[in-house]
Amino acid sequence: MYPVKNYKITCEYGVKGGWKCGYHCGVDLIPTDKDYNIYSPVKATVFTVKKNHSSYGNYVVLKHTDGYFSRYAHLDSIAVKKGQTVSEGTVLGVMGNTGNSSGRHLHFEVHRGTSMAYPANTDPMKYIQPTDIADIAKELATLGIVSDTEGLINEVKKEPCGRLYWVCRKALAYIRRNNL
Ligand SMILES: [Zn+2]
Repeated sequence: MYPVKNYKITCEYGVKGGWKCGYHCGVDLIPTDKDYNIYSPVKATVFTVKKNHSSYGNYVVLKHTDGYFSRYAHLDSIAVKKGQTVSEGTVLGVMGNTGNSSGRHLHFEVHRGTSMAYPANTDPMKYIQPTDIADIAKELATLGIVSDTEGLINEVKKEPCGRLYWVCRKALAYIRRNNL
């Protein structure tokens, strides 16, 4: 799921502009309804809880089980504690306008690997909703590994950035690399 249930993107990832690194390294989301809660998109551990950062305001960083990290910035209030385990759908806090922010929104970043180094180099929307799973499923079917591609795609979509997607991706990469 997405950290804002019914969202509208107000600033895409990668847009060039006045940021220190030259581009927007997260995605900005606002709700299309009145739900200002920020939800954990995955099962994760709360890695950082920080208040009053000059840029990010009040923010939370999650450590995912696949090695990725995500940041939820400009929060009005924080509902989790460092070290806490969260599930997909756990409320992390409430959207706000803290730090260097002009208007209430969520700044959402996804970091590859084990550091939170600036800038984040992953597009959060691509990470949360992999668009290549259909291609991966087709290729796995061609190889005779999967017979029910629709079933596989549906299972992956139920848990969009979860383990199954990464298992499929890694399996395919392994098969290609080793010419199996
Ligand atoms: Zn932003």
